[in-house]
Amino acid sequence: MSVVEKLAVIGCGLIGGSIVRAAREKGAAGQVAVYDRSPEVRARVRELGIADIVADSAAEAVADADLVIFAAPPAAIGEAVREAAPGLKAGAIVSDVGSVKSAIATAMKKAAPKTTFVVPAHPIAGTEQSGPDAGFASLFENRWLIACPLSDDAAYMQAVETLSDFWHALGSNVELMDARHHDLVLAVTSHLPHLIAYNIVGTAADLEESDVTEGEVMKYSAGGFRDFTRIAASDPVMWRDVFLLNKDAVLEILGRFTEDLQALSRSIRRGEGDKLEALFTRTRAIRRGIIAAGQESAEPNFGRNRK
Ligand code: NAP
Repeated sequence: MSVVEKLAVIGCGLIGGSIVRAAREKGAAGQVAVYDRSPEVRARVRELGIADIVADSAAEAVADADLVIFAAPPAAIGEAVREAAPGLKAGAIVSDVGSVKSAIATAMKKAAPKTTFVVPAHPIAGTEQSGPDAGFASLFENRWLIACPLSDDAAYMQAVETLSDFWHALGSNVELMDARHHDLVLAVTSHLPHLIAYNIVGTAADLEESDVTEGEVMKYSAGGFRDFTRIAASDPVMWRDVFLLNKDAVLEILGRFTEDLQALSRSIRRGEGDKLEALFTRTRAIRRGIIAAGQESAEPNFGRNRK
């Protein structure tokens, strides 16, 4: 039996497109409706045949939906909820997948009717691709879904349970977390690594041609640099929003990172090989821990071919 009768997904790119495919494949929803603000995306979703209904407005898509998941870029989610609000039924679960939680939770709560249950959430799964063609049904399998409840009221917690059941049906593990704590954790595990990747690739691109040419960067891009370019190819709009909306947590973690980088630079200057080796041994153990937790492949290509 499906977890919800009708699911509506607003914004049908990589994540929205993966949710609708997975919900249908795993039978998590009886009916799946989609709305995307881009007419090209709506036409493509119709062509792909991955949803039962492709509506021409958000309010139309969410009509009678038990669960509505907003999968637009982070800064667009509040506005998308406002647009859909006239169509939302009383008791509907209003959730999202945005990579930042505190700011989006506030925006959703402000825009959604009081008769709905707003349960912000974030699947820790994705790729550097965008658009409905990039989505695939197995994206959330064995990945974490972090839900950030905004109340502990019994009726509200029932909505949280339904949302958790939905994500379990898609193959995810579910964890409940305070929104601010989510933003700090993700600043460490996702936002800072992306900032570093954008910076490293930017630095290489901006090097004076007299030092290292762009051709040399491309030709000799060894594993390390190549992996950063994959991360630095992530969606520019989404990542602009992440840094603007999670400013405080990112700046806090960036401060710590900068201090540690200074210490590393001092160790290199002073020739403190023991300190460098001790750190690199600890970091190698962390990667092995991530593999042991089933969150990464041990393949030597860093799991690049995983789907
Ligand atoms: P995406 O592939 O770019 O898809 C987003 C879609 O939403 C686009 O088709 C966009 O249309 C549409 N859209 C924008 N504003 C809208 C609105 N007001 N109403 C309806 N549709 C709207 O992006 P994505 O990678 O799926 O990311 C979607 C969300 O998932 C983001 O909030 C992101 O933080 C979160 N997330 C992403 C990842 C990841 O790895 N990519 C992982 C976890 C969570 P236009 O092209 O016309 O703007």
